[in-house]
Order: sequence, then structure tokens, then C-alpha cells
Amino acid sequence: MNNTEIEYLPDAQLAKLRQRRWQSQRNYLLKNSEFFAEFWDGLLPPQQLEDLPELPLCEKVMLRKSQAEDPPFGDYLAASDEQVIRLHRTSGSTGNAMNVALTKFDAEQTAQVGARSHRAAGIKPSDRVIHCLNYQMWMGGFTDHLCVEACGATVIPFGVGNTRLLIQTLLEIKVDAIQCTPSYPAVLEQTLHEHFPGVKPLDLNLKLGLFGGEAALDQQSFRNRIEETWGLKVRNANYGMADVYCNFASQCELNQDLHFLGHDVLYGELIHPETQEPIPWEEGNSGELVLTHLSRLAQPLVRFRTNDAIVISGTGPCVCGRTTTRFRVLGRTDDMIIVRAVNVYPAAVYGVIGEFIQLSGEYRIRMKGKGPYDRLNVEAELAPGIEPSDTLKEQVENAMQFRTRASARVTLVPAYSLPRTEGKTKRLIREEE
Ligand SMILES: [Zn+2]
Repeated sequence: MNNTEIEYLPDAQLAKLRQRRWQSQRNYLLKNSEFFAEFWDGLLPPQQLEDLPELPLCEKVMLRKSQAEDPPFGDYLAASDEQVIRLHRTSGSTGNAMNVALTKFDAEQTAQVGARSHRAAGIKPSDRVIHCLNYQMWMGGFTDHLCVEACGATVIPFGVGNTRLLIQTLLEIKVDAIQCTPSYPAVLEQTLHEHFPGVKPLDLNLKLGLFGGEAALDQQSFRNRIEETWGLKVRNANYGMADVYCNFASQCELNQDLHFLGHDVLYGELIHPETQEPIPWEEGNSGELVLTHLSRLAQPLVRFRTNDAIVISGTGPCVCGRTTTRFRVLGRTDDMIIVRAVNVYPAAVYGVIGEFIQLSGEYRIRMKGKGPYDRLNVEAELAPGIEPSDTLKEQVENAMQFRTRASARVTLVPAYSLPRTEGKTKRLIREEE
């Protein structure tokens, strides 16, 4: 089957394909996965995909334990050492490094699924893409390089660091798109400000920014700010997780929600993050995303908890013609802050901060102790040339209350005072009491 067709397949046809793939994946797991044989303890996986909730949920901590006891890949490795062709070592956001194994088949499928994301985001074969993601200790860097190649565009491998050289490169050769973390444009702006007097972001002539890795990207205010400053289109073109699929969702050119582009290789479920009860996969519903591989050889997973809270925002065909589910990421389930029974994610705070032109868009949320909390403590950075004032502070606090339904105490801090990072910026700081 042509890979581009998957995204346009009618639901009934897709359901049949998924069911057929699950049958083979199920048989493969029964034969080859020591980990799941032990974990399921005699319980047979269901024949029908929709009966998957009969099985227990698999958690990241189990994979960590498996790799610690049976290095490097853990006993959930279901392929032979001869079949494995790539080892991705990932640092992850918490804990020790994990080792992700791919067979040739897995690697090719990963690139093809990721290429769907980049195509949906607007990358054309004639485009030149400068790739500024980290190639070390992060699967996304190398993988997205291959995904861009798989959609036919020209990749300029750059990696992270040496921002001055990057700007010099952009000034010397015509580049259409940049692929980086959403925090990186702020680093570029600061470097331009310090080392390239008179050069504005607009002068770099980028048409498209492919971002991923942070939920703030789904906020309209964040996108508007970058689009206005840089004159480029902002797209989240790489949503995924190393243990499951590095990149299986992306925004298209006509819709700002993420298209789930791996329906043929992944089965998604929603659960309540605390009670773990299944929640129907229907438009308007939100919950923690749980994923099952339908076509994976090296380290297939079943009912894996992603720790990402999502909301399903569309299930019918999108205006772009793609038929697969659209969703928005609310945030990490462990970044959820409960303020007087209201659930708040850091990205929602950005939604407010980003609307104020007097603010730079950089912010930190500092929470002391384990809660319960009466309010959010937010540090909001002022835009260059803006003086702090009680009026502005009050306006931001009121907007926060109105939009997130949680009270907030806002501290205004000077321009360029909050640390910028090239990788994922930590927005929520949990402090000891
Ligand atoms: Zn679309």
C-alpha cells in the first residue's frame, strides 16, 4: 500500500487493516515477547482490538526495570540481535537512559510514518530544511532527519549549539524551513540581538518552522508571536515518543490540531489518568493517551501509558482531506497542577502569557510542596524596554483566572532574565516546602 493513502483511508477500511495487523502482532508477541508472557501471566491477549482494555496497562517504569535487569534492551526485545540494526539511546525527561532497538523494518516504517507528518506540515520535495535537533541522547534528532529525507526534501544536518554559526549559515544559503524545538527561536532572537546588530529574524527569510517537543506550541498566542517575529508558518511536525513511535502526529496546513498519522501502526486508547478507567475515543473526550503497536518487531508494546494527556478534537475528515483523528496535547499527566480542584497544565499558562505584548513569552511556574494548592505562582518575563507595573501584574493575574479558572500570583521579571535552553525548557519547577 502507498503510505500516503493511509491518512486518507475511510474509517471502515482502516479498521479492517488495523484488526488484521493486530492479529499478526498478537501472534508475534505470544511467540517472541518474554516480557509480556510474564506480565500477562497466562492471560491471553484478546483477538479483537477493541477488547484490549482486558489487558493490564504497561508503564514506563516496567520498561526501565526490564532494561536494568536484562541490558541493554530488556526482555521486551522480541527480535534477535541479528535483526536489530539501530540502537537509540535516549535520556528521557526523568531517570536513566533507555535503549530503543529498531529492526530494519521498524526503522523504515518509522521514517515513512514520520514523513507523513512532515508532508502534512507542508514540507515539499523542493524545500531545503535546516535540521537543528539534538542528535545525541534523543531519538527525535536523527529520526526526524530521516523523516524529512523520506518525504524528498533536502536536509542540512546541523544539530544543536553554535547558534552564531547557524545564523551565519542562514544568511549565506537559501533555506526554506527550520526544524528545532519551540524554545529555540528565543535563543536565536537573543543571539541576533547580541551578535548581529541590525539583523532581524525576518531577514533570515525562513518560510516554515517545524517544531515539536513542547505543548506550548498548540497555543495560538505562541504561534502568533513566532509567526509575526519571523514571518514563517509555525507547525508542530513531530509529536511522538521514543518508546512507541518517534513521530506519528503533526499539524496540517489547514488545521492547528495534531493529525494522528499512525493509525495503521498504532492503536490509541484514552484512560482516566488516576482511576485508569477507559474513556471512549470520541470527539470532545480527554484523557491519558495509551498506545499499542500493531506492526513492530524489536520492542513491541501493548497498552503503554504515554503520560500525555490529550483531548480528541476531531474524528471526521479534516478540510485537508485526511480522515484520521485530530487531537491536542494538554500536557504531561505528571505536570498537571490541581488548584482548588481545577486541573491546569503549563501550556494553558502560556496561552495567557503569550497574549500580552508587554511580556516576552518566557515564563516559569514555581510550586512549593505537594499541594493542595490555592493558586499558581508564575514568573512572567517582561518584553525588552517594558517596565514592571502593578497594573500589568493585575491584568495578567485576572486573565489567568479568567482563562485557566485558577487563581495565580504573577511576578514580573526583567527582560532576558529567565534562562533559555536549546532543548526542552522546563516550565514547571516543583520546589521542596
Ligand atoms: Zn488536516
